[in-house]
Amino acid sequence: MKIALIGIGKIAQDQHVPAIAGSPDWDLAATVSRAGSVDGVPAYTDIDTMLAENPDIEVVSLCLPPVPRFAYAKALLLSGRHVMLEKPPGATLAEVHALTTLAQQQNRVLFATWHSRMAQGVAQAKAFLADKIVTKGHIAWKEDVRRWHPGQDWVFAPGGMGVFDPGINALSILTEILPAPVHVQDATLEVPENCQTPIAAQLTFTDGITADFDWRQEGPQSWDIWVETAHHRVELHEGGSKIIIDGVALTDRAVGVSLLGEYPALYSRMAELVHSGTRDVDLSPMIHVADAMTLGKRVSLPAFHL
Ligand code: NAP
Repeated sequence: MKIALIGIGKIAQDQHVPAIAGSPDWDLAATVSRAGSVDGVPAYTDIDTMLAENPDIEVVSLCLPPVPRFAYAKALLLSGRHVMLEKPPGATLAEVHALTTLAQQQNRVLFATWHSRMAQGVAQAKAFLADKIVTKGHIAWKEDVRRWHPGQDWVFAPGGMGVFDPGINALSILTEILPAPVHVQDATLEVPENCQTPIAAQLTFTDGITADFDWRQEGPQSWDIWVETAHHRVELHEGGSKIIIDGVALTDRAVGVSLLGEYPALYSRMAELVHSGTRDVDLSPMIHVADAMTLGKRVSLPAFHL
């Protein structure tokens, strides 16, 4: 199937383009981006022209930051295209609900992707915990914003979500593996005085779950989650690519940078959804971010520059 990519920036170049190139399901037939392009692929700077000139492109994947994404997604659904959204699926919950309703009305596929859910250990963790009661757990998601978002001012602008941009990946795993839902009870948001969004956050959920998100970690990066039940401990490391249950490693070795394999799995899933005409939109990770932003105590920090 032919697919177009919109928003040719860091994640499109790092993950989407190689995943599509390696997929038996997809042929990258066009891009839409103001500055970015992909060698050998017809490049447009305007979505309306791309859609008008390519009626045979039925599927479009949006790699833009969350704030500009809604307008593109709405235009695509109205034009009869199936749509795949990068995470987080939008800038607000209400706009994603609106897209879901529109996709239903248009009878089109809408896939709100959560790439971290495709990490190697996540399905095993979910299966192991399915019949158990979680008594406590912790997320430590600490990375270097300058390494992963070089020069991307949008992450600290309204709607950019700050440290929740990566933190929502941990929350996408948590919401996938827990056998019963939890909710945020308390949050602290550390916001640099020149930013609109937090650079660090600490969350307390029900069921003894806590989370520590930090975007100032240089050197080795931490993408770890552990969960305990009365008799067992499940650990996910390296973004979910490595799983340890009761001290025994179940994956042979971590696959290194956690995104490896996740994006091919997302595109394979999108192909299934298009074939079956099914939508997949789960907002539970984003609800936790919205609740933390609503409940959170703000702590002001000195200015931070990317
Ligand atoms: P990015 O490089 O800053 O943005 C992607 C592209 O979107 C830009 O190159 C730009 O292309 C276009 N764009 C940016 N702002 C725009 C606007 N206001 N209106 C229209 N187009 C705009 O960001 P990214 O790191 O790829 O992240 C994009 C999404 O992927 C985010 O939701 C992020 O959470 C997710 N993601 C990022 C990473 C990562 O490691 N960075 C990992 C996983 C997922 P043009 O200037 O050419 O139009």
